[in-house]
Amino acid sequence: MSVRVVLATHNAHKAAEFQRILAAAVPGLEIVAYDGPEPVEDGASFAENALIKARAAARHTGLPAMADDSGICVDVMGGAPGIFSARWSGRHGADRENLELLLAQLADVPDRLRTGHFSCTIALVSRGTEHAVEGVWPGTIAREPRGENGFGYDPIFLPDGEGGRSAAELDPERKNAVSHRARAFAAIIPSLTASASAS
Ligand code: IMP
Repeated sequence: MSVRVVLATHNAHKAAEFQRILAAAVPGLEIVAYDGPEPVEDGASFAENALIKARAAARHTGLPAMADDSGICVDVMGGAPGIFSARWSGRHGADRENLELLLAQLADVPDRLRTGHFSCTIALVSRGTEHAVEGVWPGTIAREPRGENGFGYDPIFLPDGEGGRSAAELDPERKNAVSHRARAFAAIIPSLTASASAS
């Protein structure tokens, strides 16, 4: 059994990460990066945005396609920044500004109300069938950034069960084993295996 799946990202690191993690679990799986036009991500949820990207890549290439969408959700903020995580401060990908704005917004929020989670949804569109699975990594929002690893909001996210360390203080291997993305990877494997068997 073998299957080629196009990954709807122009980020070569992301494609390599998907290949490394998923090919080990799904024999015969080959992940190829997508270099076609990018659709407007105008969905109202991680799942809608991941499906928009996966559908566009499937349509353009004729291959099964996968896409992911992720972000940080703070309970007291009704789940924000959520799908706006990458551009919370108004500038796409401005990691430090995004994190500082979120800290400022939570300045008066007491510790017991600083709960939230990272979320990652992976969508798979294959021969007219669509699946979207979510991985969630619960924790709390710190009062100041700590740690040098990772990216994005990692320095201010204190994952549950990690002894108060921020996600940016965890070894990358530890983060990769327990994160929202790791959980979404695990959840999409059955759909990918079914796709590979059908081809
Ligand atoms: P995207 O799914 O690549 O569009 O990422 C959305 C945004 O969510 C990123 O720019 C980060 O701000 C945030 N984010 C997603 N996953 C993580 C993570 O593992 N650590 C820190 N920030 C993250």
